[in-house]
Amino acid sequence: MALTETERLERIARLVPPCPPPNVHEGYDLCPLHGVPWPCPDTQVNWLARGLDLVEAQRKHIDALPKSADLFLTAADMEYDPAEDDSVGSVGGGM
Ligand SMILES: [Zn+2]
Repeated sequence: MALTETERLERIARLVPPCPPPNVHEGYDLCPLHGVPWPCPDTQVNWLARGLDLVEAQRKHIDALPKSADLFLTAADMEYDPAEDDSVGSVGGGM
């Protein structure tokens, strides 16, 4: 049974799911599943099958990642003394 162009592309997109983006804000640029520069071939196949612009799709996924400021806050939080953290908390609570 012959597939239409759209059916064929939908099937390809379903067979090859995109990989999650690496955390570029932490300095990673490799696909977490394949260890090759992201977007890896699998991810590109999925995007192409869905008719997405690769550059645009890549930018959108990277924009959706938590920003480095959040990551630094989390890392710094863990090093704070409870007393120090308390004073920071009261400043933040004033907002
Ligand atoms: Zn991958």
